[in-house]
Amino acid sequence: TDGRSRYVFFTQDMDHDVRSREETYRELRLALADCDRQLELHYQPIWSLEDRRMVGVEALLRWQHPEQGLVAPGAFIRSAEESGLITVLGEWVLRRAVQDARAWPGLRVAVNVSPIQLRSRKFVEIVREVLGHGGVTAERLELELTETALMAASGEVARSLADLRGLGVHCALDDFGTGYSSLSHIRDIAVDRIKIDRSFVNAVDTVPGAALVEAIVGLARANGLRLTAEGVETPEQLEFLERVGCHEVQGYLFSRPVPASAIARLLTKRAGE
Ligand code: C2E
Ligand code: CA
Ligand code: CA
Ligand code: CA
Repeated sequence: TDGRSRYVFFTQDMDHDVRSREETYRELRLALADCDRQLELHYQPIWSLEDRRMVGVEALLRWQHPEQGLVAPGAFIRSAEESGLITVLGEWVLRRAVQDARAWPGLRVAVNVSPIQLRSRKFVEIVREVLGHGGVTAERLELELTETALMAASGEVARSLADLRGLGVHCALDDFGTGYSSLSHIRDIAVDRIKIDRSFVNAVDTVPGAALVEAIVGLARANGLRLTAEGVETPEQLEFLERVGCHEVQGYLFSRPVPASAIARLLTKRAGE
């Protein structure tokens, strides 16, 4: 069979239908043991709308499966969370992202963090240690958390978040709008940035969609938060986001996620050119 059809097969909720959970866990453990060959980070550039320069990258995990080929994270993050392997996997991602970021002075590097990682107090210690190796200042690291993680901010999670921000690390609320929190929660959320979910960006060509994004941007700005719009695919979406005052954009219109080696040559590109 060709690689393409296998990719499709594997991404269809593999852990719950086609393959047993046990099999996925076993393969994930093997991948972690062989991480330098089977795991890879791709980076998607993030561009500023203020000066059109690249200001950051988001690290996105890829699994180079020995038989299935390249597997996207949607197919295995949930399994990793259910099995607890996300703790080790997430630590690998953090270390690799900070290491790669040394080659990109001044760029912010955003890392996705599962709520399960945050629940462990050890996470703060790992972040402190990783930054302690030098080369990347805390301000350049941004942790992307979902509303689920922030809303379930039990004592432990809230303390971890406060400690992380105390280190100087920035936090972003990922997939904004898809969780349970309402717009009115914006002022209570202890983050530096909001990432507007792709589904909202995708709807700005409708009257209610445009009104919603404009409201999110207005409220976030009034509360001193920075904004990044995700999944920007068309020049019309870009034009709209710029007009309503969104600070940064990310999406296929500018670049897909690329291997670390491809970032350097994108540094001179300007958004929208
Ligand atoms: P996310 O954090 O919302 O990441 C953005 C996803 O949107 C990525 O999918 C990216 O490739 C895709 N994307 C970016 N621009 C566009 C666009 O213009 N159009 C469309 N249609 N898609 C776009 P990807 O890489 O498959 O990642 C899926 C999800 O997996 C991520 O969503 C994130 O929640 C999770 N994930 C990825 N890497 C990690 C990781 O290291 N740790 C954890 N815990 N989760 C991760
Ligand atoms: Ca993210
Ligand atoms: Ca997102
Ligand atoms: Ca998402």
